[in-house]
Amino acid sequence: MKNIYLFNEGYGLEKMILGGKGANLVEMKKIGLPIPNGLIATTTACKNYFKNGNALSESMVEDIKEGVKKLEIETGKRFEGENPLLVSVRSGAPVSMPGMMDTILNLGLNDKTVEKLIEKTKNEKFVYEIYLRFIEMFAEIVKGVSREKFAKVKEYSKEKSYQEIVEAFKGLYWIETGEFFPENPEEQILMAVESIFKSWNNERAKIYRQLNNIDESMGTAVVIQEMVFGNFNELSGTGVAFTRNPSTGENELFGEYLLEAQGEDIVAGIRTPYSIETMKNQLPNIYEEFSNIAKSLEKHYGDMQDIEFTIEDGKLFILQTRNGKRSPNASVKIAVDMVKEEIISKEKAILMVDTELLPQVFNGTFEDSDIAGKKFLGKGLPGSAGVAVGKVVLSTDRIKEGESVILVRVETSPEDIKGMSLAKGIVTVKGGATSHGAVVARGMGKCCVTGCEDIKIDPSEEFFTINGEKIQEGDIISINGYNGDIYKGAIKLKMGELGEELKEFLEWCKEFKTLEIRMNADTPTDVIVGKKFGAEGIGLCRTEHMFFEDEKIWSVREMIIASTKEDRDKALEKLLELQKIDFKKMLHKLDGLPMNVRLLDPPFHEFLPKTDRDIQKLATLLDKAPRDIENRIKELKEENPMLGHRGCRLAITFPEIYEMQARAIIESAIECKGEGGSCEIEIMIPFIGGISEFKYIKESILKEIEKVFEEKKESIDYKLGTMMELPRACLIANEIAEESAFFSFGTNDLTQTTYGISRDDSIKFIDHYKAKNIMKRDPFQSIDTRGVGKLIVLAKELGQSVKPNIKIGVCGEHGGDPKSIEYFNELGFNYVSCSPFRVPIAIVASAQSAILKRMS
Ligand code: PEP
Ligand code: MG
Repeated sequence: MKNIYLFNEGYGLEKMILGGKGANLVEMKKIGLPIPNGLIATTTACKNYFKNGNALSESMVEDIKEGVKKLEIETGKRFEGENPLLVSVRSGAPVSMPGMMDTILNLGLNDKTVEKLIEKTKNEKFVYEIYLRFIEMFAEIVKGVSREKFAKVKEYSKEKSYQEIVEAFKGLYWIETGEFFPENPEEQILMAVESIFKSWNNERAKIYRQLNNIDESMGTAVVIQEMVFGNFNELSGTGVAFTRNPSTGENELFGEYLLEAQGEDIVAGIRTPYSIETMKNQLPNIYEEFSNIAKSLEKHYGDMQDIEFTIEDGKLFILQTRNGKRSPNASVKIAVDMVKEEIISKEKAILMVDTELLPQVFNGTFEDSDIAGKKFLGKGLPGSAGVAVGKVVLSTDRIKEGESVILVRVETSPEDIKGMSLAKGIVTVKGGATSHGAVVARGMGKCCVTGCEDIKIDPSEEFFTINGEKIQEGDIISINGYNGDIYKGAIKLKMGELGEELKEFLEWCKEFKTLEIRMNADTPTDVIVGKKFGAEGIGLCRTEHMFFEDEKIWSVREMIIASTKEDRDKALEKLLELQKIDFKKMLHKLDGLPMNVRLLDPPFHEFLPKTDRDIQKLATLLDKAPRDIENRIKELKEENPMLGHRGCRLAITFPEIYEMQARAIIESAIECKGEGGSCEIEIMIPFIGGISEFKYIKESILKEIEKVFEEKKESIDYKLGTMMELPRACLIANEIAEESAFFSFGTNDLTQTTYGISRDDSIKFIDHYKAKNIMKRDPFQSIDTRGVGKLIVLAKELGQSVKPNIKIGVCGEHGGDPKSIEYFNELGFNYVSCSPFRVPIAIVASAQSAILKRMS
């Protein structure tokens, strides 16, 4: 393998050898685009440099010199010749590496070439400006001299001649480095190449690689390219353009340019550039040439391109092209349009859309230009996707219908449901991605920031403080559920809409996906929303959530608080009726799609009344003294409610609770059938840790269901299965599979119990783990494939060893996370289930992973 390749020699070599930038230039040269000539020192050369004890070997030096000679022949220019060759030297790793040294322009200049160039261009100002720029960049990038020092020298040298400023710059170089500025272009190039190789191992680059999981041994390539000058004369210029509008996705050139300028001038924003449209009149031939190149580049790469170009003395050069960044809405439109224009396949179009950004298509974003100038108050966790603006309200009772408010609470509880549904957005001080507030907000498709511990709510509930700022109830704030940012004041919103392109795109995704996408739905409204988005059934109906609406919560409280069987039976009777009404509505709306009902799992701390007012209310409802209620609450209080008397443990103590629920489900299904409907029922038992526990509950439920069949003189099919959400259940999954018709992984609790990290308290330290690179991602947001995943794989294998066709799904919050969906798809799961609003994202993510799986 050679160390050095000219652009026209490198075709067919991989990005791993040529680096991203180099491979692109080679490709563009091959398709005949006007690219300034150049050569590439490969990643192999970089590795050889390290092998040689961080020094350029003699043979490498010869290779570089020989490459430069060839470039001189190709360009008809020579280092220090009559027509002097000047080059840019840039780093170009196989993956983009912002932590590395980047660009040195105008290399090849020295006191001699400056004279020759002035003679040739008759433009002293231009030549000295590029010379000064070169000395400054070289000193900064090769020797680490700060640019500010050069700026100061320039400041003091205002009245001086160009020659004097050059001398002052070289003097500064000497003072800072103890060396003379290298005059010889060959020496300049060798030093530049060496410094870029070396920069692969600087601290910033190393940290970037660690954070982004980039292979340390890859090395960087270096691109050496003939300079073209946009600041050469009035027929010169430089610009950047996208082949399509990156905000709207419209198929039109979008960009800007400056005349008599170098690329840096556009970035620096000192002069206002023209829009690319203006070029049509100003430089019509160049405009036409550029438009054609843009089209061919787009076709060649099969994606929207972001192109940098320079015009030198009326001749167009393409400097760089890469896939363009675009807004989430534009990404869908571009993908769909490019299929219709027969540029790409549907598969490629599906893979082009970034699922991480897709929620913004449905839930809107802030208007970027409106964020600047707004006071940033602080940051919590991204609880539920979306953005919201509204007046702060600190207590649910004070929310009035129709007002735009942001509900700010320490944590949310079932009493807050009404307020949450009325609010535009929710902020909680405590809690993580799978805590009550986030789960419920996601279910409502409502923007939510959780775990913003910098907020201190005053006990008066009239204001809160955050990082030294006092926010009064009624003040307006803006919140971002994608990243947890909170701002003071109103930021303009850009709301997403389900356009025709998006509908078509989702239809294509359905053609490719193999996973079934179900919804976590607790109410008939959830079912309507989820079905509209394409859900294929319910994967989790959290029955305790069915009581969040209206006044139903009081019947659950009555049941929990009951201290005698008689009291409990009374409460259960009420609950039976309430459940049946909702189950029937949901079954009718599902119209034959499967409904998986999870029997009650109410962690007590979420359900017991907390305030005096609520205790009083419950006492009145039950005709008891508030003190009795208080005492009962004390009896029920648990040190560790998430590991306490919840889930199926409740039914071991009080079997009548699950019996009532099983009756409610089966009676509703029989009635639904009687009314001409069809239904597919799955009953799911939560928090199972042992086989005897499961058998005990199964027996009590089956008995009750048999009773219903006898009473109704009718029977229906149903499946009884379990959630897999405790490590012990995973370890004995073969035993459980003997009894269970399906496994649904409750990855929220499985993550909590595998890590031993409370899902409600993780916020206090997970950010530190992430900042210190101990954890890459919050395991409550994206499944931990190495640890929790091992349990899942084991459980799946053990389960299938007993029942090869056992249905396997996931219903924890990970079921809506694209990275986790890819993982479940690879494992061959039957379905994932997520909140109704995440269904389209899950559809896209599962289509992408199905396509990738097929390709691998
Ligand atoms: C889970 O634990 O993943 C789950 C779906 O149940 P819940 O979030 O209701 O505890
Ligand atoms: Mg659970």
